Amino acid sequence: MRYAVLSDIHSNLEALTAVLEVLATERIDRTLCLGDVIGYGADPSACLERLQACKAVTVGGNHDLACVGELDANWFNDAARAAVLWTRAQLSIADLDALRRFPLMTTVEPFTLVHGTLRHPQRFDYLVDAAQAVDTLTTCRTLICLVGHTHLPCFIEFDRAHRRLTRMVTSPAEMADLPYEDDPEAKRYLVNPGSVGQPRDGDPRASFTIVDTDRRRVSV
Ligand code: ZN
Repeated sequence: MRYAVLSDIHSNLEALTAVLEVLATERIDRTLCLGDVIGYGADPSACLERLQACKAVTVGGNHDLACVGELDANWFNDAARAAVLWTRAQLSIADLDALRRFPLMTTVEPFTLVHGTLRHPQRFDYLVDAAQAVDTLTTCRTLICLVGHTHLPCFIEFDRAHRRLTRMVTSPAEMADLPYEDDPEAKRYLVNPGSVGQPRDGDPRASFTIVDTDRRRVSV
């Protein structure tokens, strides 16, 4: 199976369209989305529609939940809170219903999907250090944990027996083609696909990931 993994689209329809055009040439079996479909950008409804059209399995991000009142808007800084309030006013009842149905986490074997961290998905902590990575990877019950939220692509390998991180990759060149082992007894992997609509890694291009579970390769 070939999975497309998208995250943090943030209502950026131009970026989402560009990514979907690439994916149309990539023989994708299933699309997974790690949340923050909306917030900041100009086209929240259209982005939700495009994701629904490709039957993406989607978990909720902090922006998604805030728009339906399931996360206090005071969680956000001023600019993000203004974006939440503006976005909420643009959405139809059907859009709001769709957002309400996003779970905080879900499993699509061999993946666990969550926006922030697995230990406390409802807190929307940013997974930015080794301790948080170990915490999420010891909590994860599937081979690969997919996270978003930081808008920074990364790939981490975890050795379960020794409870330590054995590989951490953030360089774009290396992330283009990363092998992994299909050995859930020994290993766990954490993959952040980066952000479709608002990259924060210094590269303005939309970021996304393809995981090929037959060839056992991750490509950011
Ligand atoms: Zn985000």
